[in-house]
Amino acid sequence: MRKTKMLCGIGPATQDWEVFKKLVMNGLNVARVNFSHATLEERKTTEDLVARARKELGKDVAILFDTKGPDLRTCSFENDFIDFVAGATIKIVRESVLGTKDKISFNFPQVIDNLAIGTEILLNDGFVRLEVISVEDESGENGGGVTCKILDSATLQSRRGVNIPGVDLNIPFISEVDEEDIKYSCEHDGDFLGISFVSSAEDVRAARELLVKYGRGDMAILSKIETKKAIENIDEIIDETDGIIIARGDLSVEVPFIEVPVLQKMILRKCREKGKVCIVATEMLKSMCKNSRPTKAELTDISTAVFDGTDAVWLSDETTIGAHPDLASQYLGEVADEAEAYYEEYGTKYLASHGHDTPDLLASSVVKAAEDGNVKVIVAATMSGFTAQRISNLKPNAIVLAAVPDERVARKLALTWGVYPIVTGEYGSTDELVADAVKRAKEFMSLDKGDKIVITGGFPNTGIKKTNFMKIEEI
Ligand code: PEP
Repeated sequence: MRKTKMLCGIGPATQDWEVFKKLVMNGLNVARVNFSHATLEERKTTEDLVARARKELGKDVAILFDTKGPDLRTCSFENDFIDFVAGATIKIVRESVLGTKDKISFNFPQVIDNLAIGTEILLNDGFVRLEVISVEDESGENGGGVTCKILDSATLQSRRGVNIPGVDLNIPFISEVDEEDIKYSCEHDGDFLGISFVSSAEDVRAARELLVKYGRGDMAILSKIETKKAIENIDEIIDETDGIIIARGDLSVEVPFIEVPVLQKMILRKCREKGKVCIVATEMLKSMCKNSRPTKAELTDISTAVFDGTDAVWLSDETTIGAHPDLASQYLGEVADEAEAYYEEYGTKYLASHGHDTPDLLASSVVKAAEDGNVKVIVAATMSGFTAQRISNLKPNAIVLAAVPDERVARKLALTWGVYPIVTGEYGSTDELVADAVKRAKEFMSLDKGDKIVITGGFPNTGIKKTNFMKIEEI
């Protein structure tokens, strides 16, 4: 039974029922709608596919809506392209202009105010680097700006992405478009909200306020770590968010890319210590956008993420615009299965630094008892999903059956490693909970006489962090 969850972007390559169905049968847990690209029609198509999978296949696929975030871009260029030539200079001006080889502008001109001599500006994921060599105030031509030396030669098209690592861009974290998209996520039954280019806990709180404003304060927020600032503030972000996406694509532009593998390990560990869900994202099977077989390095990347404790593995371009979306999802799942089979030997097991409140103490006791007793299934009755997440972070050998009150909480666990949610409603007493847990565990998997089940839950269970007992039942 697979423990690693699977998240795939849905786009032109997968917006067809037969293809989508294959992804679901290959283990898709969460479908991602990327607001940076998906038109209203495409969003609707994905929502319909998810609804159909739930109805016809009985698979409770969850939806991640992913915001565009503060997205700094160049202006449009004359003839739609500019040949950047290393050694030449180019101006970035405050006024909005049609870009030429001599001057360009950005969609957020205020960014220029924070540039200084020596600042490095990366265009199109760093394909072209510019270095600021002089700064001009607003009295200059086109509102003044900065003059840059071009460090790389390349032809770029209009409206390319811009990264300026380590510089406070002065751009509001949530734009009007993002707010509209967050509202949309609330109105369209989103399970997860991905927030792009988070740089602080304050950003996470701002997104949460909007979820509350639009009536879905319960939606899980996944903060995408893709900037240098986010790395600097990683602890406060993890504390504030429900989960983390290690957005390796943008992150490797913002920080020296050789640092990304170590940052991945650091973030995974911190998330497990702090009881949060964590997903390693991007380029897991990039070569399969074209090829029908993955590279050996990709296979190793997937298993490394699993051994380091990722909750889920992720495909984006591979399944949105790739040539082999079904095969890519099949291999992604199979490689994760293979790594899981060796988790005991090569995976990172218990990270002991859970807190000392009652649910934390119970989570470690539950996992310790399950390991010592060679237990196949742990049943965690959880109102919010918190207890199941805590247990999952300890990576038990046993499957965790999460007994939850409703479908929304069940889908909130769609990314949590090793957790299989079942909707049971609420219980009237501890005895009722335990009896139902035993019954559900027996229905869920074949158990032999003498097998033990570890059960944990809270009674009275009035919400988050109310877990207060553990019981061991023998079949
Ligand atoms: C990334 O940069 O790795 C990422 C996941 O972000 P997006 O796909 O939104 O660009």
